[in-house]
Amino acid sequence: MAMDHPLDEAAALDAADPLASFRDRFVVGDPDVIYLDGNSLGRTPKATREAIKRVVDEEWSGELIGAWDHWIDLARETGDVIATEIVGARPGEVIVSDSTSVNLYKLAAAALDAVPHRSVIITDDDNFPTDRYILQGLAAQRGLELRTLTTDLDRGVDAADVAAALDDRTALLCLSHVSYRSGAIADMAAITAAAHRAGVLTLWDLCHSAGAVPVGLNECDVDLAVGCTYKYLNGGPGAPAFLYVREELQRSLRQPIWGWFGQRDQFAMGADYDPAPGIERFQVGTPPVLGVTAVREGARIIAEAGMPAIRAKSTLLTSYALRLARSWLEPLGFSVSTPAEDDRRGGHVTVHHPDAWRIAQAMRDAKVVPDYRTPDRVRLGLAPLYTTFAEVHTGLSRLRDLVAGERHLTFDAVPGRVT
Ligand SMILES: *Cc1c(COP(=O)(O)O)cnc(C)c1O
Repeated sequence: MAMDHPLDEAAALDAADPLASFRDRFVVGDPDVIYLDGNSLGRTPKATREAIKRVVDEEWSGELIGAWDHWIDLARETGDVIATEIVGARPGEVIVSDSTSVNLYKLAAAALDAVPHRSVIITDDDNFPTDRYILQGLAAQRGLELRTLTTDLDRGVDAADVAAALDDRTALLCLSHVSYRSGAIADMAAITAAAHRAGVLTLWDLCHSAGAVPVGLNECDVDLAVGCTYKYLNGGPGAPAFLYVREELQRSLRQPIWGWFGQRDQFAMGADYDPAPGIERFQVGTPPVLGVTAVREGARIIAEAGMPAIRAKSTLLTSYALRLARSWLEPLGFSVSTPAEDDRRGGHVTVHHPDAWRIAQAMRDAKVVPDYRTPDRVRLGLAPLYTTFAEVHTGLSRLRDLVAGERHLTFDAVPGRVT
């Protein structure tokens, strides 16, 4: 079977890759480890190690409190890089703050406050857990109805199903752009347009899109969005997230946590909360400067490579992985759960197998790092800036060999605490 896909083919794809040199910009510890999890935690950019050291040694240690003169704008400046280079928005529409979960709460609450006469929130059952839980909490606190649509785990959210569910009682529609499980891309343009026809505000989660798939927030007229920076943006574990609010909406929306970083004329220390007119009103408290510094470095590398080139390589990587999966893994009892059409999938590829959890453990043992996802999925993240075609070949051939040799059967069948 291996004869069908010689390693030479992968080597030729690597030789023709215009982004190949970007791998050197990242720390690669053990070159024998095939890291297919950049969609959960991206690798460390070398520039980030230097930038953090500089901020600690020169700015924090040297300038002390005086460094706030420039730190004060860091979250906004980094937001502008994400806005203009990564998610298709204008300067002043994105800011780095808090976590994705907290930003989702802030923006969803702001949207619900704007339409008090509407009482239904719509999401789908394939949305990421934190999104579903936060919406459940908001619905419970406010006595609203949360309607959870049923989505096919492999095909992703269906635009016609969403359109059919929207009506004049709907306050907010919240969905993920790229499914965390299958990698299916939702039709952001069609779904947002359908929501707007029903007078509904849209809140998109871009965690698995930002840095992997071009996102046209302005082009699709999206109202609100949130996203992570520690996945394809390589911002580091727990790095602060970003949020987007369409400029025309900013003045009319108020988020629920009235902190001093959202205040107009912050250092006047005024008696009463009066939110800043722009995107800053969606901040709460002091931004984590070391974390935002890492986000800035990660976003700059994406900007330098450019989203069109990143998407082109990503599509080649995922289609190559799907070809190998079909010829090597399907005969072993796997099926592919990622959409076959290039324009319907994001940056990762997911396969399913009844023994997925044991297989994921055996892969780590064989120095291939995937994610296990419920109920029976193995997810392979192919981060375009540092994943090579040769790694895809080696990773999938190790996976094929260990399942063919039944090595996974020696691992525990009960999932661990962190999967
Ligand atoms: C990773 C991820 C999150 C994570 O949210 P945190 O607040 O950073 O824990 C949220 N939504 C989606 C879709 C994700 O993939």
